[in-house]
Amino acid sequence: KYDLRAADCIFCNYSRETIVENELAIAFYDKYPVTSKHILIIPKRHCEDYFSLSQPEVNAINRLAHELKSKLTVEDQNITGFNLGFNSGEDAGQTVFHCHMHLIPRRKNDVSNP
Ligand code: 5GP
Ligand code: ZN
Repeated sequence: KYDLRAADCIFCNYSRETIVENELAIAFYDKYPVTSKHILIIPKRHCEDYFSLSQPEVNAINRLAHELKSKLTVEDQNITGFNLGFNSGEDAGQTVFHCHMHLIPRRKNDVSNP
């Protein structure tokens, strides 16, 4: 799992389902959303986890998170918060080994344990 190569990676071919992108990062909807409009933001370059990101990639992912926060809160006025995070390592719950930020919209009384 840890030596997964880009050729075998499910997140290395997501250009068709893009919500927004910039030069180094791209965002798409999670296939099994924790809440409605659960989004994943990934570096375009294949790398394993948060700690493998370059500083420009961290910035690019961060800019998309801000862009999507604005977009989602305009689209859906019930969104009143977000959970953001990276799982790093199998023991931390990482299941796809192409780095991704979870951007999970939250609404009043949606779920107790996302
Ligand atoms: P992790 O557990 O590695 O932090 O998160 C992996 C995420 O990828 C999960 O939330 C899971 O629902 C999502 N996921 C798994 N396979 C696919 C897929 O084929 N397409 C999309 N869009 N999301 C996926
Ligand atoms: Zn990949």
